[in-house]
Amino acid sequence: MSVAPPAPPTDPALLDRRLRELLILPDDDRWDDARVAWNLAVDQRPAAVAQPASAEDVVAVVSYAREHGLRVAAQGTGHNASAIDSLDRTILVKTHRMHAVEIDPVARIARVEAGAVWEDVTTAADRHDLAALSGSSPDVGVVGYTLGGGCSWLARKYGLSANNVRAIEIVTADGRLVRTDAGNEPELFWALRGGGGSFGVVTAIDIELLPISEVFAGALFWSWDRAAEVLHTWREWTATVPDEVTSVGRIMSLPDLPLVPEPLRGRSFVVVEVIVTGIVDEGPALVEPLRALGPEIDTFATVRPVDLTGLHMDPPQPVPVMSGGHRLLGTLPAAAIDRILAVAGPGADSPLASVEIRHIGGALARPGEGHGALARLDGEYMTFSGGLVLDAEQAAAVARRNGAVAAAVDEWATGQYLNFVEHATDPAGFYPADVYARLRAAKSTYDPTDMFLSNHPIPTLAQVSPPVR
Ligand SMILES: Cc1cc2nc3c(=O)[nH]c(=O)nc-3n(C[C@H](O)[C@H](O)[C@H](O)COP(=O)(O)OP(=O)(O)OC[C@H]3O[C@@H](n4cnc5c(N)ncnc54)[C@H](O)[C@@H]3O)c2cc1C
Repeated sequence: MSVAPPAPPTDPALLDRRLRELLILPDDDRWDDARVAWNLAVDQRPAAVAQPASAEDVVAVVSYAREHGLRVAAQGTGHNASAIDSLDRTILVKTHRMHAVEIDPVARIARVEAGAVWEDVTTAADRHDLAALSGSSPDVGVVGYTLGGGCSWLARKYGLSANNVRAIEIVTADGRLVRTDAGNEPELFWALRGGGGSFGVVTAIDIELLPISEVFAGALFWSWDRAAEVLHTWREWTATVPDEVTSVGRIMSLPDLPLVPEPLRGRSFVVVEVIVTGIVDEGPALVEPLRALGPEIDTFATVRPVDLTGLHMDPPQPVPVMSGGHRLLGTLPAAAIDRILAVAGPGADSPLASVEIRHIGGALARPGEGHGALARLDGEYMTFSGGLVLDAEQAAAVARRNGAVAAAVDEWATGQYLNFVEHATDPAGFYPADVYARLRAAKSTYDPTDMFLSNHPIPTLAQVSPPVR
């Protein structure tokens, strides 16, 4: 006979004082502000929201959830909130109050609390002439990004952020606060680095910083009627560059809104963004074949790594978006670019704001000793697209066109990368079969009752893997 778990919390009077301070319930005046995600298109409806200020607070929330048969979903910012279908009977643990960053400049380690975003780390590291493997957006969460892999501007040279982690502090399903590293609970440490948020609530993470104080970087813009010419030249150029060069080729249609700088507002461009690390002096010569195409705007300069945060022009604040169009690609033949442009380029009447192709490969593609569950990205390029969604009609149009971008390159797809998937899917597709089986075994050990709900949940060995959507 199965016994129904106790009801989720509805009466604040039943909570002890600590939990009364930590948990925000639907009848609270703060409820709508508390449940909002960075992606404003997502309407999150958990049973309660917790806003812990310390690891001890997280222990209290996890213990409470266990006693009351509730699930727990950790969230740093909500950049990937759209992948979670339902927060029914779930406490949403929002970690933004825990955002301290401590840097040991001698050991070149940053201890980063769970709610810190990349800008917190890059700014602190810059004071010591150090750089982090941060992503394109300053307000993406360090922990969510790193647990999913983490593909940075320096990625072709230094690999995934997940494989640059030295230790992780986490509250597990039994309510323990564990510090895991290569020597302590190594299977948990392995699973967390690329397996995502299925194993507990991370409270802090130690990441290695790099002694990099300058890079050569910038973006080139051309009117998008030159998209085919520019992207074909960029594609051929990527085959010639060393691992020190990471770049993105993309088409963009910028909204006619005040948040977009005047010369770009309401216009469509083809853009190439490039970062050169280590061989900074060679930067101008390396990008010369791109500059030779005569861009309308050229922002290249030698800059500090902290200045890379605006390079990709990601939205500077929460927005309602729908992303998709993602595939890892083994190769990028000219036909792949032609097909992408046919569905989303000039004349395609596309609702997408951005369609990008990232040049990956290099260190990202090489497995290494001591790497975590996501040892490498299986591909030389990856695609990603998205658009603003202000109503249901726009959402349907953006979803259809994201699907068309993915279908355009399916022929060359080698898989998908967890962080770039923003809808529910079968996580088996992110890993080789043996790695996925090992992740499920780790989930069975550390969270046998499946208390923790992540954006891309790893099932226990006893559960059925979710269907592909
Ligand atoms: C504008 C934009 C730019 C991006 N740029 C890049 C990029 O350059 N490179 C790249 O690799 N990715 C990039 N991403 C993808 C990004 O890495 C993922 O969306 C990532 O999941 C975001 O982490 P978050 O904590 O901000 O988001 P959240 O939605 O808060 O978290 C995502 C998931 O991470 C897990 N998680 C978060 N915090 C914790 C915790 N404390 N304990 C346990 N689990 C936790 C949970 O499973 C959660 O569902 C970008 C996304 C966007 C929207």
